[in-house]
Amino acid sequence: MTAPVLHAGSVAQESERRRSIAVISHPDAGKSTLTEALALHAHAIESAGAVHGKGDRAGTVSDWMEVEQKRGISITSAALQFAYGDHIVNLVDTPGHADFSEDTYRVLTAVDAAVMLLDAAKGLEPQTLKLFDVCRRRGVPVITFVNKWDRPGREVLDLCDELEQRIGLRPAPVTWPIGVAGQFAGLLDPTDGTVRTYQRAPGGAAVAVETVLDADEAARELGDEYVAAHEEAQLLEPVDREAFRRGESTPLMFGAALSNIGVKQLLDVVIDLAPSALPRPDESGEDRPVDTPFSGFVFKMQAGMDKQHRDHVAFIRVCSGVFERGMVVTHARTKRPFATKYALSVFGRERSTVERAYPGDVVGLVNASSLAVGDTIYDPSGKHVSYPPMPAFAPEHFAVGRAKDPGRSKQFRKGIGQLQQEGVVQVLISEARGDANPVLAAVGPLQFEVAAFRMEHEFSAPMHLDTMGFSLARQVAPDDLPVVARYPGIEIVRRADGVILALLRDIWHARSFERAHPDVPLTSLEASD
Ligand code: GDP
Repeated sequence: MTAPVLHAGSVAQESERRRSIAVISHPDAGKSTLTEALALHAHAIESAGAVHGKGDRAGTVSDWMEVEQKRGISITSAALQFAYGDHIVNLVDTPGHADFSEDTYRVLTAVDAAVMLLDAAKGLEPQTLKLFDVCRRRGVPVITFVNKWDRPGREVLDLCDELEQRIGLRPAPVTWPIGVAGQFAGLLDPTDGTVRTYQRAPGGAAVAVETVLDADEAARELGDEYVAAHEEAQLLEPVDREAFRRGESTPLMFGAALSNIGVKQLLDVVIDLAPSALPRPDESGEDRPVDTPFSGFVFKMQAGMDKQHRDHVAFIRVCSGVFERGMVVTHARTKRPFATKYALSVFGRERSTVERAYPGDVVGLVNASSLAVGDTIYDPSGKHVSYPPMPAFAPEHFAVGRAKDPGRSKQFRKGIGQLQQEGVVQVLISEARGDANPVLAAVGPLQFEVAAFRMEHEFSAPMHLDTMGFSLARQVAPDDLPVVARYPGIEIVRRADGVILALLRDIWHARSFERAHPDVPLTSLEASD
């Protein structure tokens, strides 16, 4: 991989030219395909297939952990950085499997915009809705890319209605398809009437050949379909950068990642509309200017990426200043120094050493077992800073953990503590069960498998897990605890941050409680229902 020119100007200039984004989608909408297409477009990787491959696993990225290999899925995520024109794009990867969406939720705290990828035939799917909920709550603006337009799919205005009705985002077309999904004649630019048409490349190469028609040529060649597309596109509002950034509208695009259709336009929209790396608010809500000394926060921890050296890599989003490899930073939570001798950029199996990084960039710090998800680190030559803690997302699966070998309870506690710190699972303590039997909570059940695997292989404390019959956690105000705890079927647990949670069987259970006690609110967590 050839490294782009990543640093040339002042911190303010470098922050300004960076765009840090994540692609969010329901599985199978085409996220891996789009990631490859984006990277290929920017010539960041040599050939498609080097990023993710689901069939032939050889040469693909995600065999860091045996669990992953056995399952043939991708758990881990890191960032791909590439230059596009004068800009630097950080594409922060998210796991492909819905069971690891808690990781994706955390990634969304580290990016400045998201690309919501929809399958033209399916529209908004459950996972897209949850991911969108996180974007909305985090104030992450969303660009919508309707993928697979080369195949039969939904009616376009119908998709637009769905966006507006179900998630309250007004679609603002950047491109508009000519012809229904599956009989696709081209992409209209509603601002100037030009059309891009696509033909299969000679020799069957995946990337389609693009031709640009001006408005007159398009009207002549495409006739009624062109007129119809033009009229439809005018029914919607034009792209408005401010409305997009306020989370009121979403720039809407169409394409086919597999044939590279619409991918360049997507990159252009990211550069044009997505915010650059702006000052981040600290815990007290005050913005930390980007040109102050280095600071950043951990949005993801990954253990065991290198089997030879059981390492812990902490992925940091740089928020201010220049990160330089080797600098000794302060760990805000413990006030201890942390040496950044080993700093990496990681995408899949590709690791290269990072010498410098700027706001918006992602750095992987090796030997980081003392750091926890959500922790802040900063250059002690600047003012102390602590970014807001990582939100705890709504778990949907619960199991009681128990050391299989009671003689290894010390290792068991240590392992559980480490898994909690890394965010592998959430650890909840029930007064009734005590901390020898923690309640492990997860967004997806495969998180339990990773936890059990690591307890056995890394901490030599094999763990028995008893699944619990709950699927919902709601926050309880301390004053309401006696009422909630008495309600049949509810179990009360506490999170490490002191928040009290009620575990409930399902949404019906929650509703029956609400009917019985209309004045006792049970508060939803992020990305629940
Ligand atoms: P992910 O699970 O979201 O990462 O989805 P993938 O990128 O693995 O894609 C899922 C399937 O959809 C694969 O078989 C892709 O080849 C296919 N696919 C992705 N993009 C397109 C597209 O634009 N058109 C068509 N026809 N198929 C696509």
